[in-house]
Amino acid sequence: MNFNPNRMIRPNVASLKPYTPILPFEVLSQQLGRQPTDIIKLDANENPYGPSPLVAEALAEAPFLHIYPDPECRELRQALVDYTGLEAEYLLVGLGADELIDLTMRLFIEPGDTIINCPPTFGMYAFDADVNGAQVINVWRQPDFSINVDEIESVFAADDDRGIKGRITPKLIIVTSPNNPDGSLLGDDDLKRLLALPAVVMLDEAYVEFSGESRMQWVKQHHNLIVLRTFSKWAGLAGLRVGYGAFPPDIIKHLWKIKQPYNVPVTGQLAARISLDDRGRLLGNVAKIVETRENFYTTLAQIDWLKPYPSHTNFILVKVEGGRRAVDIRQKLAGRGILVRYYDSPALADHLRISVGLPGQMARLGSVLQQL
Ligand SMILES: *Cc1c(COP(=O)(O)O)cnc(C)c1O
Repeated sequence: MNFNPNRMIRPNVASLKPYTPILPFEVLSQQLGRQPTDIIKLDANENPYGPSPLVAEALAEAPFLHIYPDPECRELRQALVDYTGLEAEYLLVGLGADELIDLTMRLFIEPGDTIINCPPTFGMYAFDADVNGAQVINVWRQPDFSINVDEIESVFAADDDRGIKGRITPKLIIVTSPNNPDGSLLGDDDLKRLLALPAVVMLDEAYVEFSGESRMQWVKQHHNLIVLRTFSKWAGLAGLRVGYGAFPPDIIKHLWKIKQPYNVPVTGQLAARISLDDRGRLLGNVAKIVETRENFYTTLAQIDWLKPYPSHTNFILVKVEGGRRAVDIRQKLAGRGILVRYYDSPALADHLRISVGLPGQMARLGSVLQQL
C-alpha cells in the first residue's frame, strides 16, 4: 500500500511557513557571552519588577500540586469580579490571552471564513488565523497607527475585488487597544462603529492597566463584543501564562464546551489570585513604569535620528531616521547586552520597539543611544 501521512496534513497547515523557535533567555545570554543578570531584556514587553513577592511565597507553600486544577477557575473568576466589575458568568480564564485568541477563532472559523485584522499589530492574530484556516483581510492602520474604520465598513458594504469571490461577510474583527507595537488607543466612537457591523469584535486589552481605560464592561451592552486581558504584562506573570476574557452569554456558553478542561494550571490560578490581592503594589509598579516611559520618551525625542511614537503601554515604538538602519542599531545594542525588538516587515521598516525597564536600565540605554 502506498501510504503517505504527509498527504493527510490539513492543506492550510501544510502550506504554513516552518516554525522558527524563539531562543530561551538562557541560550540567548550564552550566545551573547553574558550572564542573564547582565542583560537588559527589553524585547518582549515583560514586567521589569516581576511578580508580587507574595506569588513566590504562595507557590512554595501550595499544597495540591498533584491534583488537577479547577476547570472553571472559580476562585480566580470570583476575584476578577471585583477587579473587572463584571459578573463571573461573563468571564473565562485561559492559558494566557493567547489561548483565548485561538479558542475564539476555533469557535467561529471554518476553513475559508474571513476575518479582519488591522496590522501592524500583535502577530498572534495572523498566526491563529492561519492555523484555523481563516482568510485574513488586512485593513492596514493609518500612518498614525489609528484604525481605518471607513475601510473596514467598506469591506461589509459591497462585493469587492479583494480576490475573494462573492459578498464578504467577515466573522471577526480584531482590534487592540492600546495597540502593540505602537501603543496607540482605539477611541470609543471608532469602537462603536465597529460594533454596529454584523461581525464579532474581539478587543485585546493586554496593556490596559498602563492606559487605564478598560472597555470590558461594554460586553454587557454588546452581544458581539469580546474583550481580552492578561496577567502577563501588568502583574509580571508572563511565565505563568494566565489571561482572561469577557464574553457575551451566547458566545461563552460555547467556549465552555470547547476549552480543554484543565487549561490553566494550579500555579497560574493561584498566582493570578494573589496578584489581584496584592494589586496595590503591582499597580504601583505600573505607575512607575508609566513614569519611566515618559522620561524615556523625552530622552528618545531629544536624539535627532530617532522618532518615538507616544505610547499608552509599557513599550515605545521608535523610528530610526537620519540615514541609519534599525537593524544596525539593534545589533550594536545587543553587543552591549541590551535586547530590543526589531521588525523587518515593510510597514515597520526601520522601527524598533523598546520595552520599558527599570529607571536605571533606561538611563543606561539612553546614554548608549546618545553615544551611537
Ligand atoms: C503580550 C500580548 C498578549 C499575550 O498575552 P498572554 O496572556 O501572555 O498570552 C496578547 N495580546 C497582546 C496585544 C500582547 O501584546
